[in-house]
Amino acid sequence: MQFDPEEYATPQAFARDPAKVWTWYDMRRQEMAGARPNPAHTALAELEKTGRRVFVVTQNVDDLHEQAGSRDVTHNRGSMWHVRCLRDGAVEENRLVPLTEIPPRCGCGGLFRPAVVWFGETLPRQPLETARRYLLAGEIDVCLVVGTEASFGYIVEWSFHARESGALLVDVNPRATGLSDAVGFHLEGKAGEILPWLLPELS
Ligand SMILES: [Zn+2]
Repeated sequence: MQFDPEEYATPQAFARDPAKVWTWYDMRRQEMAGARPNPAHTALAELEKTGRRVFVVTQNVDDLHEQAGSRDVTHNRGSMWHVRCLRDGAVEENRLVPLTEIPPRCGCGGLFRPAVVWFGETLPRQPLETARRYLLAGEIDVCLVVGTEASFGYIVEWSFHARESGALLVDVNPRATGLSDAVGFHLEGKAGEILPWLLPELS
């Protein structure tokens, strides 16, 4: 289905018509409920099982890393399976598919909105701080930048920070990115093809 993000994924769209926005998110949640981890998700979870500490920062709003078995996952653009109350800011997990009430409401009577980052919104502080803490700990030996255009300033910044503290920087992407020239390795291809053979080498 064609859709204009401005119609659904902005605070203005939600203020105009919360039911319309929630109807669209309800559909996306139904699609997402059937999704299963791909070989890249599985490879990361497998690496963690070998005893390696694996910290995943993802822009994805699904829970496929968690489904695959990764335990330390930070979502820096929120989650489709969480809702946030507009009145008191409470965040709750909500896995009802389909939703039983549109728009859903908090116990306090306030409207819930999807707990994801919309166009024009800044990233939530908590995940950024979690990521920064990892970086400052200086214990990263390999930093994988996977499937991102690296067009977000903070991704480039984090990557360089990891490299400066001694991490090997590996960029996995179907196309060369802004990072490709600066990394230790640029591996050109899909995450689902590259990670399953790359990660066992790191265990
Ligand atoms: Zn509330």
